[in-house]
Amino acid sequence: MRPEILFRLFESIENLKGVGARMAGLLTQLAGPKVVNLVMHLPASIIDRRYSPPIKEARPGTIATLTVHVDDHKPGRTKRQPYRVSVSDDSASMSLIFFHAREDYLRKQLPEGETRIISGRTESYDGSLQMTHPDFIVSPAARDTIPAVEPIYPLTTGVSQRVLSKIIHEALRVAPELPEWLDRHHHAQTQWPPWQEAVLAAHAPTKATDLDPDAPTRMRLAYDELLANQLAISLVRRSRRKAKGRAVTGTGILKEKVINALPYTLTEAQTVAAREILADMALPDRMMRLLQGDVGSGKTVVAVIAMLTAVEAGGQAVIMAPTEILARQHYDEVSKLCEVANIRVGLLTGREKGAPRKALLDDLKSGGLSLCVGTHALFQEDVAFKDLMLAVIDEQHRFGVEQRLSLAAKGVATDILVTTATPIPRTLMMTAYGDMEVSQLREKPPGRKPVDTRVMPVDRLDDVTAAVRRAVDAGGKVYWVCPLVEDSEVLNVTAAEKRHADLARIFGDRVGLIHGRLKAREKDAAMAAFIDGPVAVLVATTVIEVGVNVADATVMVIEHAERFGLAQLHQLRGRIGRGDKPGVCLMLYQAPLGEIATARLKTMRETEDGFLIAEQDLKLRGAGEVLGTRQSGLPEFHFADLAHHADLLQTARDDAAMIIETNADLKGPRGDALRVLLYLFERDVAVKTLRSG
Ligand code: ADP
Ligand code: MG
Repeated sequence: MRPEILFRLFESIENLKGVGARMAGLLTQLAGPKVVNLVMHLPASIIDRRYSPPIKEARPGTIATLTVHVDDHKPGRTKRQPYRVSVSDDSASMSLIFFHAREDYLRKQLPEGETRIISGRTESYDGSLQMTHPDFIVSPAARDTIPAVEPIYPLTTGVSQRVLSKIIHEALRVAPELPEWLDRHHHAQTQWPPWQEAVLAAHAPTKATDLDPDAPTRMRLAYDELLANQLAISLVRRSRRKAKGRAVTGTGILKEKVINALPYTLTEAQTVAAREILADMALPDRMMRLLQGDVGSGKTVVAVIAMLTAVEAGGQAVIMAPTEILARQHYDEVSKLCEVANIRVGLLTGREKGAPRKALLDDLKSGGLSLCVGTHALFQEDVAFKDLMLAVIDEQHRFGVEQRLSLAAKGVATDILVTTATPIPRTLMMTAYGDMEVSQLREKPPGRKPVDTRVMPVDRLDDVTAAVRRAVDAGGKVYWVCPLVEDSEVLNVTAAEKRHADLARIFGDRVGLIHGRLKAREKDAAMAAFIDGPVAVLVATTVIEVGVNVADATVMVIEHAERFGLAQLHQLRGRIGRGDKPGVCLMLYQAPLGEIATARLKTMRETEDGFLIAEQDLKLRGAGEVLGTRQSGLPEFHFADLAHHADLLQTARDDAAMIIETNADLKGPRGDALRVLLYLFERDVAVKTLRSG
C-alpha cells in the first residue's frame, strides 16, 4: 500500500552505510528505526567556522578559523602536563593545547616552520589566547575541507556528532523528489521550496536564523507535518461519520429522577454539556465526543446522565477508569447517583474472579445488568453485552488518536464519550482531538473555596512541617509530593522513602508512602489507609495515581515544585480542597529559580483556571512537552512547534477541510501526492479509511 517512491525511506537504518547493529540500536533510541526518522532528525544548532580574524582580534570563547605559522613544540614535562604548540601570525601568538598527546603525530600535523589552518573554540588563559584540541588542522591547500558551517544534531550517548552527521548524510541520499501536495495557490503564495529541497536545506543551515521556526524550509516541513495530521484526522472523522451508528434517544424518566434527587443544581456548563451529548447520541452516527473539564468540575454526573439515557433507550452503558482505585471510586459514586432510579450497577475489574465474575458476565450478556463500571477488564474478550450503547472512557490521557482509530476499526458501533481533566490548549486540541466533538465544563460548581497557594524556598521546611502538624491535628489529610528526579524512578523512590522516614520521626505511623514501584495491591492498601484509615500524611511520587478523590485532603506539599511542569502542578493541586474545607498548597522550591520556573510558579499562585494554565504552559514550553507527549497520546511533532506555528495549523486545518470537501477520496495527481504525504508521516491508518469508505 505504501507508495513505492517512499520504499527506501522506510527501510531499516541498518541498511545505511556505516550502521551496524549496535549503532542501529542507538539511532533507534535517538530518532527511530527507519531511514525516514533520521531524515526528520534536524539539527538543533550550528557551528559557524567562517569567523577568521587575526589572532590578536580573536574573541575568546568563539569558534574561529585561524591561519597560523607553527613556531615551536613544547611537549609536557610530565604525563599530566599538556603538550603545547606555539603558533603565531603577524598580529600575535597563541598556544594550541593537547592532552594525552602523541608527539610524532602532532609533529606531522603541525610541522615547525610551516603554515596551518586551525579551527576550533578559542579561550583565554592567563591573558593570552589558546585553543585546546582544534577540531580541524589542515594545510593551506586543504582549506576547503573545513566546513564553513556545520549542523549540530541532538545526540545520545554513544553517538558522536561526526558519526551522526555522516549517517544522516547517507540517509539524505535516499530522500527522493516527491510530488507536490501543497495547494497550488498556497504554494504560489508562500514560495516554499519543494519537499526534497526543504529537507536537504534543513540539514545544511548556513546561518543561525536558518534554524528559526519561521525560516522557509522549517515552515514548509512544519506545514507538511500539520497538514498530514489534520488531513488524517479529517479522514478518520469522515469515515466515522459514514460508519453506521445508531440513534439513541431516551425517555428522560431516569435522568429526571436522578437530577431531581441531586443535593445541588447542575451548573449551566453541565446542563449545556449534557444537552450536547444527548443530542449527539440521538444522531444516527457513531458518537465520538470528548468531555473536558477541570478536576472537580463535575464530569461524573454528566457522564451518568448520558449513561442513563442509554438505559432509557433499552440499552447498556459502561464507564471505564484507568485504574482499579478509580474504578472503585466511580462505582461508589455512580451507584449512589443511580440509587433513586433503582438501577443496579456492576463492577468489573481484574480483581473480580470466579463465581461472582461469572454471574456478572452472565448479567451483562443477558442484559439483566444495564450499568457497569470497570477497568480495562471491561473490554476483555469474554465480556459480552446484550446491547452496549454507550462507553464512557474516563481520564484517558493515554487514549490517543491511534487507539481511537483502532477502536473504530474494530467496528464498535457504540457511542463513545471520553472524559478528561487535562486542560488542553486550543491548538493542541485541534491536533490531538480534531476527530472528536468536544464539550467543555469551564465553570466549576459554585461555593468552591479557592486553594491558598504559597510558594516558598525549601529552607523553610520547618515552617512547613509545623503547618502540616496543625492540619493533621485538625483532622485533615496531607499529600506530600516528593521531588521529581529526572527520568529515574529509582531515585524518585529513594527521595520519597527518605522523606517518609523523616516525617515518620514526627508523625509516627500516621505517615504513609506510595510510589510507582509498589505492587498494585500495595498501592491500593496505601491509598485505602489514607482515605479512611489512620494515615494522615501520604508521601507520594507523582507516578502514583492521583486521580483519586480524598474529600478530607486539605494540604498539599510539593517539594522542588520548580521541577514540575505546569500541567502537572495543576493536576496535583486539584487533589485538595475538594471537600468543604479550604485547601492550602505549599510549593517548595530550591533557589535559585530560573526564569521559566519563576513564571510557572507565579502562574500557579495567580490562577486555578486549568485552561489559562494550559495556555501559559504552551507558551513556556514546547507543545510536545506540555502534557508529556508520550503518556498523553498526543501526537509528537518533529517539525511543527505549536507555540510558533499556530497560524500554520489553522491553514492546514482549512486546507484539510477543503480537501475533504472537494476530493475526499484523494483522487488525481494531488490526491496521489497527499497519499504520499500521509504515508511519509506514518498516518497509514487514515489512508486505510479510504479503502473501507
Ligand atoms: P470531576 O470533573 O473531577 O470528575 P466530579 O464529577 O467528581 O468532578 O465532581 C466533583 C464534586 O463536585 C463531587 O463531589 C460532586 O458531587 C460535586 N458536584 C458536581 N456537580 C455539582 C454542582 N452542580 N454543584 C455542586 N456540586 C457539584
Ligand atoms: Mg472524575
